[in-house]
Amino acid sequence: MKVPLLDLSAHHMPIQQEILKAVEAVFKSQVFILGTEVEKLEKNIAAYCRTTHAIGVSSGTDALLVSLMALEIGPGDEVITSPYSFFATAGAITRVGATPVFVDIDPATYNINPGLIEQATTPRTKAIIPVHLYGQCADMGPILEIARKHSLAVIEDAAQAIGAEYSDGERAGSMGAVGCFSFFPTKNLGALGDGGMVVTHDPDIAERVRVLRVHGSESKYYHKRVGGNFRLDAIQAAVLNVKLAYLDQWTRQRQENAQEYLLLFKESGLIENQRVILPKMVYEFVVPYYHIYNQFVIRVLDQDALNRDALNRDSLRAYLQQAGIGTEVYYPVPLHLQECFHTLGYKEGDFPCAESAARETLALPIFPGLSRAQQWYVVKTIQSFYGS
Ligand SMILES: *Cc1c(COP(=O)(O)O)cnc(C)c1O
Repeated sequence: MKVPLLDLSAHHMPIQQEILKAVEAVFKSQVFILGTEVEKLEKNIAAYCRTTHAIGVSSGTDALLVSLMALEIGPGDEVITSPYSFFATAGAITRVGATPVFVDIDPATYNINPGLIEQATTPRTKAIIPVHLYGQCADMGPILEIARKHSLAVIEDAAQAIGAEYSDGERAGSMGAVGCFSFFPTKNLGALGDGGMVVTHDPDIAERVRVLRVHGSESKYYHKRVGGNFRLDAIQAAVLNVKLAYLDQWTRQRQENAQEYLLLFKESGLIENQRVILPKMVYEFVVPYYHIYNQFVIRVLDQDALNRDALNRDSLRAYLQQAGIGTEVYYPVPLHLQECFHTLGYKEGDFPCAESAARETLALPIFPGLSRAQQWYVVKTIQSFYGS
């Protein structure tokens, strides 16, 4: 049996006609950059995320970059973030000339550990970028409290978490000063190319992002600040307007698939034997809807990291590959150990929780359209890897 990590065609085929019609309408309008489809998407996303403003941008990376620019964060400033994320989170901080300051993660959720943030603040700290990794909100309560106490801006990297909730129905992206989203095709709401969104409650920040999006010009050819080309394409916006209507349904399917894995893994005995640790749903008792499972990530305990024949994450991954099951490692190298950041002076051992996560985690297929039989096959194959 073949089980891909992600089957985009399962997403797109049932709504192919609707998508192509929307693309054709943009073609007929001959308006390809910004325009009414982008404006419509901005309204839709603001409503979906429960914020007052949304500004369509060129990617999730550019959403982070333009947010930092709008908050006037630059050389000499420090920004606290997680060492265990996609590269763009720290890359954007560096690109505005500021310094990323990493804080280790909570080993159960893989999100930044709020208990370690305060000791990392200095007089130069300007912002915190929590990442809602894999589709689960970081622990925003204490993060916002520390930010208030030290007058720091909070920029939520919600690229993997559209629609995720923290508590009281607060949605990812709506809790900090700014929220950043990505429409990269593998995200829960994916375009047919690159795209992103900045959301905020603050009208001034919204206006600054809008101006920076078009090279810092409020009126054409007059530039108050140096911005960039951070614009969203009309075709991508039109496709996203179609797909947004299906997002809740897809999220529900991801959550049902996660529940099914929980049952299958419980029955397998792999959890009792401490072979596999499943995603922990910390806020389950508050909001059952909180986790949107952009990824379903298990931890494969690595008790004997030096033994190359050991039953570890990498050998399990190879075994699953042989059996036709696609998996991925998010992320094999934590950000503080990336070559481009060696001048920051971090070394191995600085963030043990991020480092063990990089060694031990494995993302399994969770996409909407995954069948029960496929999930059963995934868990059975993991069982047979452990010879049980
Ligand atoms: C995908 C992603 C980004 C970047 O988004 P792009 O649209 O690919 O530029 C940033 N942060 C996180 C956590 C992501 O998963």
